[in-house]
Amino acid sequence: MLELSHVTKHYAGTAALEDCDLNMASGETTVLIGPSGCGKSTILRLIIGLQLPDAGQIQFAGQPLEPAKLPALRQRMGYVLQDGGLFPHLSARGNVTLMAQHLGWASQRIDARVEELAELTHFPVDGLDRFPVQLSGGQQQRVSLMRALMLDPEVLLLDEPLGALDPMIRFELQNDLRDIFSRLNKTVVMVTHDLAEAAFFGDTIVLLRDGRIIQQGTLRQMLHAPADEFVTRFIHAQRAPLEAMEEHP
Ligand code: ADP
Repeated sequence: MLELSHVTKHYAGTAALEDCDLNMASGETTVLIGPSGCGKSTILRLIIGLQLPDAGQIQFAGQPLEPAKLPALRQRMGYVLQDGGLFPHLSARGNVTLMAQHLGWASQRIDARVEELAELTHFPVDGLDRFPVQLSGGQQQRVSLMRALMLDPEVLLLDEPLGALDPMIRFELQNDLRDIFSRLNKTVVMVTHDLAEAAFFGDTIVLLRDGRIIQQGTLRQMLHAPADEFVTRFIHAQRAPLEAMEEHP
């Protein structure tokens, strides 16, 4: 569904991505993980065309992502950011329906879709007319997800969508999100810095370092057949709470 071939992206001398090859299969969830600044968000920004690669090519459903095709291709992708990225001056409903209105959908179709999405994302219907500032962080992310899903895109790109939430809300949304991904059979690319979250969601986990893909596969493969000692260090740096308890009983 999505394919990066030899993709390189530099920002004023900083190598954000260096010769990356990555294949993201249709209907699967690929999780990008790695230390801060390793190029995870850059991959999402290149896929959605907010930035262009310096070298290499990105293909979406067999078509190269060319600037002229981007507006049309973007409608086939949903994008969720860590802070939700909601427009503060629009209600939840206004945020969710913005693109559909722009595309001239009939109001009945819009209303039916919003109702469907509120049910899917477990968002309270009476919250639809509230503004983002009147919603909790978890509710804002549900609105952001509804907005991303409104046009029923084939691909969902999520940049640390749960990173700013407290642990219990995060746990609840993780379960809901995984259920939604499998029910809708979307191709999902998710960025996280949390290995447990990566293992929970990822059919494939892609570990990056300094703009390069170091290893891709399952957490089990990384644990038992690490590509190099960085992989092992990265995994062991994410201490599990139970392990911490054993050290300080
Ligand atoms: P990650 O998402 O893994 O934290 P990013 O993809 O955001 O990393 O960034 C990769 C590298 O590119 C980092 O070194 C970052 O500082 C740099 N970078 C990202 N965006 C820009 C930009 N707009 N201008 C300059 N440097 C940038």
